[in-house]
Amino acid sequence: MARLVAVSNRIPLGDNPSGGLVVALEDALRTSGGLWVGFSGETVEEPSDDLAFHEGAAFGRASFDLTPEDHETYYLGYSNSVLWPVCHSRADLMRIVPEYLDGYRRVNERIARLLVPHLKPDDRIWVQDYQLFPLAQELRKLGVTAPIGHFLHIPFPGPTDCATLPNPDELFTWLSHYDLVGFQAQRDLDNFAASARSLSDFAQLSEDRFRIAGRDMRAGVFPIGIDAEAFIAEAEGAREEDRMRSLTGAQIMIGVDRLDYSKGIPQRFRAFQALLDGDPSLTEQVMLLQIAPPTRESVDAYQQIREETEHLAGRINGQFATVNWTPIRFIHRPIPRHELAGLYRQARIGLVTPLADGMNLVAKEYVAAQDPADPGVLILSRFAGAAEQMPEALTVNPHDTADMAQAMRQAIDMPLEERRDRHAALLRCVLDHDVGWWSAAYLEALAQARA
Ligand code: UDP
Repeated sequence: MARLVAVSNRIPLGDNPSGGLVVALEDALRTSGGLWVGFSGETVEEPSDDLAFHEGAAFGRASFDLTPEDHETYYLGYSNSVLWPVCHSRADLMRIVPEYLDGYRRVNERIARLLVPHLKPDDRIWVQDYQLFPLAQELRKLGVTAPIGHFLHIPFPGPTDCATLPNPDELFTWLSHYDLVGFQAQRDLDNFAASARSLSDFAQLSEDRFRIAGRDMRAGVFPIGIDAEAFIAEAEGAREEDRMRSLTGAQIMIGVDRLDYSKGIPQRFRAFQALLDGDPSLTEQVMLLQIAPPTRESVDAYQQIREETEHLAGRINGQFATVNWTPIRFIHRPIPRHELAGLYRQARIGLVTPLADGMNLVAKEYVAAQDPADPGVLILSRFAGAAEQMPEALTVNPHDTADMAQAMRQAIDMPLEERRDRHAALLRCVLDHDVGWWSAAYLEALAQARA
């Protein structure tokens, strides 16, 4: 089998808790004995002009460092202060700074130069996510003819949002150099086709084939999954000491999100406030456990969302708490996944209510972690990519406080039989479309796109 070379912004080098992308790629790379290339996480004034190779995994791992300036412009700047807000329908939070785009192009060009000497003629190259859109174009400039695919883990912007970018046409030029671009949801493929339509040199040749600036490429929908079997085992084996004590009385609602403005945490808190306001009998009967580890803290918009969230939690707790009960527990630290698995299993309600989200793996983890005999209820935003696959969740509009409060009420009151029926259907989806399915389906389509 041709070797798989995966390139992502970050590469995990320690035993740090692994997110969805890491688990997904590890699985695919192990089966093909591949190579994973990514940013080490270190910034240095004079980075090496070759990749650094690391031992100790079932596949090759190679990293590069960035200069502090590159980190500022490429990563915090164009990736996370331009592309991230635009792709999550928050163009109002975008910061257009010319140096950001220069840095983004420069780093992608450098990654291509570092990678080329280590490529073999029959490799397949799989580029991950929005930090690396230009990589295929840079590799092609250096003469690489291998199949190159891209997978976008976040939403693709529609025409109105695309038009707010400083360089909307360039985005499509970057993408046109891939053989296959994979999206999380049909919504993203539709946005891609709709946004590309404004280009002067664009044609949709069939449902999944496009011609942009004279180059033919394919695009498709490949919803990412979790390692469902492993997660189920983790939840079943959750250790007693990882469980919440002292809370036996109250039903737990759980939210697990990086503290990102796209996750809708303040909206969720306001809905919980409305629920408590509307029904005093829920006092001491229900609590919201919100785990929200910090992320991208040096970007202004992230400092603002932290302040807003903490302020709101404080106000709601001040309004409703009793000497025995705090309605919202807010944890601003990362929790290891094995502990999360146990907490999900204990929680009667899983709150996954982003304003925009590529997929949202927490929704799938929550379902996998439930006891099928007495499962909890998933409340899921219609704006998470997962909503297309998981209609048996209670689907909500996260902008509508009353709608979310009503769904919380419905979940609290839901009879066991209905909980079991909904959970069985959701679990089927999580098991059938797990992470192994995702990478196999994508790589198969990449091979076909080339053929
Ligand atoms: N996660 C974790 N510890 C935390 C919070 C989150 O391990 O304290 C994991 C979570 O289990 C999930 C991932 O981080 O696997 C988050 O993925 P998701 O798709 O939900 O959101 P993203 O952070 O990629 O936007």
